[in-house]
Amino acid sequence: MLTDELVAVGTDELERLEILKRYRKLLRTANPYFKKNDSKLVRKAFDVAMNAHRFDRRKTGEPYIYHPIAVAQICVEEIGLGTTAIICALLHDTVEDTELTLEDVQRDFGVKVATIIDGLTKVSDEFDTGSSAQAENFRKMLLTLNDDVRVILIKLADRLHNMRTLDSMPKEKQLKIASETSFIFAPLAHRLGLHAIKSELEDLQLKYVNREAYYDIRDKLHATKAARDRFIGRFLEPIISELNGLGLKYHVKGRPKSIHSIWKKMNVQKRPFEEIFDLFAVRIILEVEPDQEKAACWQVYSMVTDYYQPNPERLKDWIATPRSNGYESLHTTVMSTEGTWVEVQIRSKRMDEIAEKGYAAHFKYKDNDTRTNSGLDKWINQVRDMLETTGDKTAALEFLDDFRSNLFNDEVFIFTPKGELKVMRRGATALDFAFDIHSMVGARTTAARVNKTLVPISYVLKSGDQVEILTSSKQKPHEDWLKIVVTSKAKTKIKDLIKEDNKQYVTDGKNLVEKKLKQLRIENSHETINQLRAYFNAKTPADMFYRFGKGYIDANEIKKFQAEKEAKLNRQLKLNTDEIQEGKAIQKELQKMHGGRKDGDSLLIGEDMDRIDYTLAKCCNPISGDEVFGFVTVLEGIKIHRTTCPNATELLAKYGNRVIKARWTSHQQIAFLAGLKISGIDRVGIVNTVTAVISNELHINMRSITVDTDDGIFEGTIKVYVHDTRHLEDLTQKLLAVAGVHEVTRFD
Ligand code: MN
Repeated sequence: MLTDELVAVGTDELERLEILKRYRKLLRTANPYFKKNDSKLVRKAFDVAMNAHRFDRRKTGEPYIYHPIAVAQICVEEIGLGTTAIICALLHDTVEDTELTLEDVQRDFGVKVATIIDGLTKVSDEFDTGSSAQAENFRKMLLTLNDDVRVILIKLADRLHNMRTLDSMPKEKQLKIASETSFIFAPLAHRLGLHAIKSELEDLQLKYVNREAYYDIRDKLHATKAARDRFIGRFLEPIISELNGLGLKYHVKGRPKSIHSIWKKMNVQKRPFEEIFDLFAVRIILEVEPDQEKAACWQVYSMVTDYYQPNPERLKDWIATPRSNGYESLHTTVMSTEGTWVEVQIRSKRMDEIAEKGYAAHFKYKDNDTRTNSGLDKWINQVRDMLETTGDKTAALEFLDDFRSNLFNDEVFIFTPKGELKVMRRGATALDFAFDIHSMVGARTTAARVNKTLVPISYVLKSGDQVEILTSSKQKPHEDWLKIVVTSKAKTKIKDLIKEDNKQYVTDGKNLVEKKLKQLRIENSHETINQLRAYFNAKTPADMFYRFGKGYIDANEIKKFQAEKEAKLNRQLKLNTDEIQEGKAIQKELQKMHGGRKDGDSLLIGEDMDRIDYTLAKCCNPISGDEVFGFVTVLEGIKIHRTTCPNATELLAKYGNRVIKARWTSHQQIAFLAGLKISGIDRVGIVNTVTAVISNELHINMRSITVDTDDGIFEGTIKVYVHDTRHLEDLTQKLLAVAGVHEVTRFD
């Protein structure tokens, strides 16, 4: 096709050259993997994408086509995918954003490509009180996993590029996208063994949600780099000379932990950067034949521990039992001669590639190594099982939660009575194990025998347990079982089996509802049923029918629903906070109030109080100066949360369209309640000094102070009324200046 002409439309000469430059780079990277005709197909996809996006621009102002090319580049270079994925990546936004239809794609590129593109295309973004468009989209994407796991890999590449270029997005979009990323995409990358992508996604997420912490750690890492490099050099010196003596081919890498993982450690362990930064890993990668890698790794382990004393509790052998995402490596933590612990990771080149690129690298090695497949294949099968058994559309949110809880797990290793090894997620019970064997075994479980001792079905499995399941043909699954199991496979099976049992009630209930609707002359439409479902607080229409069928809800209750519905219609169309408002509607209303100013769609905290009902969320206690957003709740109007609030990620990831921009007005004299934790060395009169600083020097109103002392150390909490973050920072600095005070931190 005439690419050069197409490119020329709507772009200038420089851009045209840049596009071709990026496209050629993609070809260069992919070329070694091309089979005959592949480059022609890729060219065709590029031409089609180019043409479809010819008038589109990214938020940065750049030609849109940069994005699909970049996504394709990530697919090849960072995930190791091939031609089909490149074609799909180039076309991934065409059906959603341009005139191109799925039929066009299918005609030009075949069913496989069309199926993957379909999985990558969002469902319409309609706002629905009962569900979440984001969960729905995610579910749709996963449904395609059934046919092809590449959908998720391309989606991850897409997300990674969007995160890398998030700067040009408006603030609330940044928050929504960053939260989705940490809520689902980073765990997903982890689960698929894409270590490098997972770390980068987490770092970028932190950058947008907690900018200050991100830059602080980044700068400190930068400042300490030279010292760290010298330390690693000294540490590795004796090991390297031994390695050279062995005549093995190897590389060593010493690298700090990711910004996000340092931040997490600082928060969990409540320790400053300086105490954490030197906890880094040294990696020794050996180039050996597959049949020698295990022996070689242990040989190097023995060498390392000849020089440095290992911590016996920190030896991890992921070679004999790989993790379920396919990860293989030998880890040990040793004491350096300078008195700090250093983690040493020893692995072969093959293992390293699997650790970095995950699923795709895995695929590549599949032929010569069957050991590592079981875990990941098992997981993909589990996802397939889950998808097959959850057909109901309204259950998308529930599905997302189930799915997510399956992403994080550590695992335990269980043996069957015949000595076969099974990997289960940590926290799994005997009943989970029974369902893992077979759903019919699960359904009939009465108890289990673990290491020859009788235990109840709720027994939580431990690594090394040998488990035998006891069944009875009279046993039936109970609702209570849902509280016992943790795996989604068991959960969905139990729900299904119960549903099966309840089908008759559902049918009865449906008939009852239909009769009543007819009698009340309410139209029996999909919409009505969905409104009823919401009114009766049921998760799915089937749940609601079931409750009618069982007699838990009286059919006459529908009259009340009708009355309420009419009342609602009659009510004036104004912003009312009794029901969920779409964020956009509120934003429009705000713009009207503020006379259509450009920034008028932000809620002005402090000024809009009399017009719009909002409150400050109790979970994170925002104060003036904090980065915040507004979230429209069902019953309590708009809540203002800090972007760093522990609940924010989930809210933004699931209900991004209920988020509205909010900022603080600059001039105001409202006081906010904030909490400070203070600790240090106890001395006589320190409490008096602290209270004096607060009330006399800074004229701050104190609501409460509690102090505990223990063996010369004191710890206290203070609640004070402040105007904004600046005010609070002033107070913190003044308190730190008090002799004896060592640490002052804010708490929610
Ligand atoms: Mn995209």
